[in-house]
Amino acid sequence: MSYKNIQPDQTIGIIGGGQLGRMLSFAAKQMGYRVAILDPKENCPAAQVSDLHICAPFHDQIALQELYDISDVLTYEFENVPHQVLEPFLDKIPQGLFPLKFTQDRLLEKETIQKAGFKTVPYLKIDTQKDLKIACEKLGYPVLLKTRSGGYDGKGQQFIHHQDIQVDINGPSILEKVIELKQEVSLIVTRSIHHEVKSFPVIDNIHRAQRLIESSIPTSLSEQLMEKVLHIGKRFAEKIDLIGTLAIEFFITTNNEILINECAPRVHNSGHLTIEACQVSQFEQHIRTITGQPLKETNMIYPALMVNIYGQDYQASLDVLANYPNIHYHLYGKKEMKKNRKIGHVTICTKDIEQREYYRNVMRNILN
Ligand code: ADP
Ligand code: MG
Repeated sequence: MSYKNIQPDQTIGIIGGGQLGRMLSFAAKQMGYRVAILDPKENCPAAQVSDLHICAPFHDQIALQELYDISDVLTYEFENVPHQVLEPFLDKIPQGLFPLKFTQDRLLEKETIQKAGFKTVPYLKIDTQKDLKIACEKLGYPVLLKTRSGGYDGKGQQFIHHQDIQVDINGPSILEKVIELKQEVSLIVTRSIHHEVKSFPVIDNIHRAQRLIESSIPTSLSEQLMEKVLHIGKRFAEKIDLIGTLAIEFFITTNNEILINECAPRVHNSGHLTIEACQVSQFEQHIRTITGQPLKETNMIYPALMVNIYGQDYQASLDVLANYPNIHYHLYGKKEMKKNRKIGHVTICTKDIEQREYYRNVMRNILN
């Protein structure tokens, strides 16, 4: 299918109204577009800053039809929209459905990565307790059981450290060997409807209890590893004929092996620092890919550190706002400050690495 350029004043329909939709909407509005959001939550983060909100579940065909009718192009901001329901609207979805399909299912995702010629952690498919027992023995402890769909921020995951631990399977799953990681990095690759490809700088990520805590650029990877990550990202994007944005999470093992952990068919939490630290933000670049505008250069302007703010940290984070005016403070307009749910982030841009470490400690002391 071929897709037309979309001109300012035309309408971008975004399926999903969370913080990613909100930041996509900010970018699209700045570029002169109208934005419509489909999301079941009233006053969701993206609806607060968009022209129109259709408040309905993602599988509601009438609501989807309404969004389709008023939009000139459609995009999605999260991967758990049931892809089948989007089938009738494909002629306005330049990204297509394959990126949604393969990232919705950890098994298909691993198979897609391996078929494209890239490495993943060793894993096995799990449907029954018996599968689990056999797989644990095959892979060797410790292992990590993950539901095939619906997981994020470590949800749907259970560690199994030795054979005496009993766990119950929650639906179709995969079992992964737990790998000793030297580092985790991510790469955000974009490819436009005119097949122009651009990657952002490689981002270093720190997770705690399987949740992303901090992201920073420039990466501390060696030049050689960094080049390999960039190469893998570009090749992978071309192999799957990507249109739009693909965020790729990598594991770097203690043997300097590069494994692809998982992908997201959209802008990514680790890329929030691109707003202040790169020549273009991941949000604007994504809008450029689907509207047919030439992609911008993505060079780093400032070294930067992004720290997530979770619900439990809201009160403490106000300290940042009050005392550190040079830290970029973002809140997503969420009404409920739920534990372990992202409600905002901060970005620190500084060329002075010592100052960056100082701020890293400030943030670690403020947040849980
Ligand atoms: P989610 O969809 O919740 O982000 P991930 O598969 O990315 O799921 O897991 C979250 C984090 O848990 C990873 O970033 C990494 O820190 C840790 N993790 C996941 N799988 C493994 C593994 N096989 N070995 C070691 N660490 C892992
Ligand atoms: Mg992840």
